[in-house]
Amino acid sequence: MAVDATQPYDDQNIFAKILRGEIPARKVYEDDWALAFHDINPQAPTHVLVIPKGRYVSWDDFSSEASEAEIAGFVRAVGHVAREAGHVEPGYRLLANVGSDAHQEVPHLHVHVFAGRPLGPMLA
Ligand code: 5GP
Repeated sequence: MAVDATQPYDDQNIFAKILRGEIPARKVYEDDWALAFHDINPQAPTHVLVIPKGRYVSWDDFSSEASEAEIAGFVRAVGHVAREAGHVEPGYRLLANVGSDAHQEVPHLHVHVFAGRPLGPMLA
């Protein structure tokens, strides 16, 4: 079910549990600011989720509340994942679903990294 991205952060969301190590995930990258792991239901040969370690639901609360270091660290982590996956050429797609219209399912900000096949035209 899609979430309301204006809701307060819920510490029991599934990605918070992954961050705390309470449920497993196939991790591909971790640093002080971000964690990246394979999506449980991949939509492409590479489908990795990159999440900030802070308690953010949406891009707008992250971009307004996070420190410069957190923002830089998260953006660099997304780039690192794409680079390490070897998809700089022929390319990859980044996607962040925020709120109910975008069908955000997990109320912890995440960026999807899709790659490994032609991804088609962008969704409207
Ligand atoms: P959203 O629609 O919120 O942008 O995407 C949430 C993503 O999280 C979906 O692609 C879904 O497959 C993935 N997901 C949901 N639960 C889990 C989980 O427990 N582990 C992992 N690795 N991915 C999950």
